Amino acid sequence: MKIRLMASLLAGVSLFGLTACQEHHGENGSKIIPQATAQQSSEEADVPAAQSGRAVETETGEIHNDMLVMDTHLDTPAYFHTQEYDFSQRQSFEEDGTHVDLPRMKAGGLDGGFWVIFTAQGPLDDASYDAARNSAVLRQMAIRELAAKYSDEVELAFTADDAQRIADEGKRVVYQSMENAYPLGTDISMLETFYIGGLRMVGPVHFRDNQFADSATDVSGEEFGGLSPLGEELVQKANELGMILDGSHASDETVYDMIEVSETPVILSHTGVDGVYDHYRNIPDELLTAVADDGGVIQINAYGSYLEALEPSPERQQAMNELKAEYGDDYYDMDEETRAAYSEARDEVDAQYPEPRSTFDKFMEHLLYALELVGPDHVGMGADWDGGGGVEGMSDITFLPKVTAALLEAGYSEEEIEKVWSGNMLRLLRAAEEARTSELTSPGVLN
Ligand SMILES: [Zn+2]
Repeated sequence: MKIRLMASLLAGVSLFGLTACQEHHGENGSKIIPQATAQQSSEEADVPAAQSGRAVETETGEIHNDMLVMDTHLDTPAYFHTQEYDFSQRQSFEEDGTHVDLPRMKAGGLDGGFWVIFTAQGPLDDASYDAARNSAVLRQMAIRELAAKYSDEVELAFTADDAQRIADEGKRVVYQSMENAYPLGTDISMLETFYIGGLRMVGPVHFRDNQFADSATDVSGEEFGGLSPLGEELVQKANELGMILDGSHASDETVYDMIEVSETPVILSHTGVDGVYDHYRNIPDELLTAVADDGGVIQINAYGSYLEALEPSPERQQAMNELKAEYGDDYYDMDEETRAAYSEARDEVDAQYPEPRSTFDKFMEHLLYALELVGPDHVGMGADWDGGGGVEGMSDITFLPKVTAALLEAGYSEEEIEKVWSGNMLRLLRAAEEARTSELTSPGVLN
């Protein structure tokens, strides 16, 4: 499967929910804020620091690079076992739809973060649980293999203290999280297996209700009104092991239940706010306040269609309708030949009628709104890179210094900004470690 299509499949339930798009920017998004160019959008030029003098940009770039910069939702591991993706080579969003690789991590000053073991939601039966478990185990292996292959450049992280140590050694930090606990089936002890492999964050649910919890986006109605009894066991097991609980994709009621059941604060690893755009995947002020009051953190998402309502052009809509009529709307139902044909047709539509995109300004609106409401101890970054994140003006991780610049411009101190980049999520990991009761260990080398 082409990486570009994988990117859209990772990002939405439907093939017709998201496409990669056609933004252009130079390949010079280096340690300083990318220079405004003729190709860059007006939104991008609106970022004050991008318009200021080179000295200021360099200074901001240095401030950014001196910080420990982490993102709590890197979906890139979905590419690790593909032929096309090469972590060591600088790839580009324009060419293949990707956001993250080693050269771009260095260029954007991204020290690392949580790398995701994602599993799409499937049927709730034993055979499907087994298949999901196998693919999740292999995904964790892919993350570990990457760390082993590039051991001079990246390192698996297991404790909160590991992050700064690894970054100080000039390496990238690889924590692991699980998006959708579906592959655990009904055997909660499977979480121990993933813990031993390095898992330190788990979110119960994805796009649809599952055995653990109600999803934010399941239109079929509430299954449990929050966590199921098995979901409560999952939260307790995560506490026992010292993992952070992730409420992204969970329904509001599920997040409230997680706050109540969990002994340690909850994270929302990639989520936006209803205060800017009322959407199922975003959260209302009162829930965000409840998360913060409990000591938790919201990590702001840069996923366009959760940032604002995006209307496709009539031409694109028509082309997508025609694709749907010809191929159906479930990629996983297609046979191999049909998938290939669909992929090619989809590329053509995307090239001819690019999907509308949200903007850096809109992303900043969500970030600043959350900061205003709950303060810099409870907000962070989880942009959903390689999972559908990225906006006009911040199309990949090389643009991250712009976020630091915009936060400085908004009056936040360097100390506060570093909390946003990494301090808050590490505080949650530390809290999870302190509360753990399990004796299990995670060896760096598994024998
Ligand atoms: Zn997600």
